[in-house]
Order: sequence, then C-alpha cells, then structure tokens
Amino acid sequence: MDLKELKQEIKKIALDSGAKLVGIGSRERLSTGPPSANMDYCLEGAQSCIIWAYPNEYETLVNYFSKKERMSFKKHQFFAYSTGWKTAQKIADFIEENSKFKAHPVIPNGKYRRVGSFSNLFMGSQTYPDFSLRYGAVAAGLGHLGWSGNLVTKEYGGSLYLAGALTTAPFEPDPMAGENNCNKCKICVRACTTGLFSLDESQEPVIIGGSEEIIAKKNNFIRCAIGCAGWTGLSEDESWSTWTPGHITLRKIPEETISDADYIKKFMAKLFTSKETPKLIKKFNRKILNSFAKVGVKENVGLRPLEDTNPRCGFCNAICIAEPKKRAELYKLLIKSGKLFLDEDGKEYIKKIDDSGKEIIYYPSTDL
Ligand code: SF4
Ligand code: SF4
Repeated sequence: MDLKELKQEIKKIALDSGAKLVGIGSRERLSTGPPSANMDYCLEGAQSCIIWAYPNEYETLVNYFSKKERMSFKKHQFFAYSTGWKTAQKIADFIEENSKFKAHPVIPNGKYRRVGSFSNLFMGSQTYPDFSLRYGAVAAGLGHLGWSGNLVTKEYGGSLYLAGALTTAPFEPDPMAGENNCNKCKICVRACTTGLFSLDESQEPVIIGGSEEIIAKKNNFIRCAIGCAGWTGLSEDESWSTWTPGHITLRKIPEETISDADYIKKFMAKLFTSKETPKLIKKFNRKILNSFAKVGVKENVGLRPLEDTNPRCGFCNAICIAEPKKRAELYKLLIKSGKLFLDEDGKEYIKKIDDSGKEIIYYPSTDL
C-alpha cells in the first residue's frame, strides 16, 4: 500500500471508531516542542503522529455542569478512552501489516514518564506523558493550545478526548489549523476550584510547526491531582462544588503551602485516615483511590472498566465548547449547580438554591 492510500485507510479507521476529527502531524513540526512532543521516547525514528478526537455531546455537558446527572459524561469518558486505545492498536497493526513501517499505539492517559511514574503524581510538581497527544494534535492540524493548555479546535472547542498512534511512515502532514479558537474567556480558569491556572500570567510559549502557543502558567500540579480525582472541589465563595462531598477550597491554599511535602502528607492523611473526616467521606475517597490504583498498575486508562471510570471534575477541559455563548451558559449552570453531599447511606445528593431563592435537595440519576 502506498503512503497516500495508507494515510486514507488509517484516517477511515479513526473516523469509523466514532472520532469526529483526525489529522496527521510530522516529526519536523514537533521538533521545536517540549520534551513530551518527542516521539522517539515511544518509537525510535517516528516520522508522523496520527491524532483523532471524540468530542463531548452538548446535552451531556448541560447535565454534568448543572449537576442533573453525571452518568452520561462517565459513559462518554469510558467510551472515548477505551475506544481510543483499541483504535490506536488497530491503526498501529494496520500500518505494520500493510507497509514496511513501524507503528506505536499511544496510551491515551494514565502513563507517565520517569521511574515510578503514576505515584509521582503526588510527589513531583510535574508529570509528563510518554507522548503528549495535545502537542501531537497541534502538529496534526486539529487546533491550537488554549489558555488552559488543552487543545482547542474550531469545531468542538476543547471539550473532547484525544487518542493517537505514532509511526515511522513519513506521511505528508495535514495543514496546520488556522487561527487559535481560544478567545481567552478564562472560563477554564474560573471553573477550576483548585487554582491550577494563573488568570493572567503565561508560561514559556510552546512552539509547534512554527506556531507560538501561549498558555497559562500552571501552579503545582498536585492541585489538579487532588481536585480532578474528586477528593475535594469547592468554589472560592463556597457556593458550588465539583462532583465531590470534599469541601475544601484548594484555591485558597497558597502555592508555598501546597508545595510543602509535610503539608501535603497531612492533607492526604486528612482525606483518608484522620478522625476529623467523616467515615463516609473517607470511604468515598478510598473508592476513588482504589480505582486510580488499578489504572496505576496497568498504566493505561484505555483498559479501565466503566465501574472504575469516575469523573468528578475535568471542568477546565469539558466546559471549553466551541461556541463562546454556550460556554458561558455552561459556566452559569455550574455556578448555580450547588454542592454535592453524602447522605447517611453514602448516597450522593445535591443541595442548591433554585431560581426563586429556595433551597432544594435532590438525588441525581445514577442510571447507567
Ligand atoms: S475556556 Fe476560554 S480561555 Fe479557556 S481554553 Fe477554552 S476558550 Fe480558551
Ligand atoms: S481537571 Fe479540574 S482540578 Fe484539574 S485543572 Fe481542570 S478544573 Fe482544575
């Protein structure tokens, strides 16, 4: 099979899996990127990356941000990671079976560089994936990096999951995306209860394919490790939470404090063992920890079963839909969505103030 035909066939495999966008990037474009843009770490001599995306449905996001229910978001996350991984393997096999080139399926999440990898999430201030799918996606022409550092596409914004494969096949890369569709609304920053992103300060630009990508300076990554896991997530004004009964506002904890190893040790003890934390919350936290530990062992979120897929935040990424007006509406839903609590049987319920100013309590649907 010649390179042109091979390129068409692998794109078809990605789209047939349910992906809505697919593109191909080159080694040359990635050569100016950060270390995790270096494909050699996964596949020596790789020349091209094939990257595709599974966007979230708008209705799913309305339910997730308003706290109506989180099961449809959970199901899509499971679909995107598991299908992304299976498709990556299929594409890598297809390349090797139909050409002389080598290929490597990229693990979509849960695999990090450095010894001990996953456990370093709680030790180092930064962790790096084997290969950054978002850098690959910029090189493949899918979009540009938004203020959050996530990929932002013209068609679906940043509310999507990426998957990819690398190959030594020197494909003709697809054109780079045109303008950057991040409008710097900073809703991603405001939707994060942990204070991971700076509102105004940017970090060193990321250069890919000659494009200078300006992204927010990030604080200690442990903020997201704790918040995205769902161990705690409360807004600064304490009026809304993420999908967690853990109501500590990480945003209020100064960077110097949260970067102190002793402080974090005590903080973790508070989440899992301390007598001052209610038993039901500790049980909730341990359940999440067990699910993460399983991913840690396999180092591949693409192998995680539905029951261990437990989205509680991911707000910075999920809220970034393409249309700015609708994005702002999702944010409005979020800040009016109230807080999650556990009842005495450990069942999750929501307490919020409705439009007439009355406090309401309800149990979100848990139907799968
Ligand atoms: S939410 Fe707004 S500022 Fe953040 S990445 Fe998306 S478009 Fe950019
Ligand atoms: S996933 Fe949640 S905690 Fe992590 S950076 Fe995004 S909004 Fe913040």
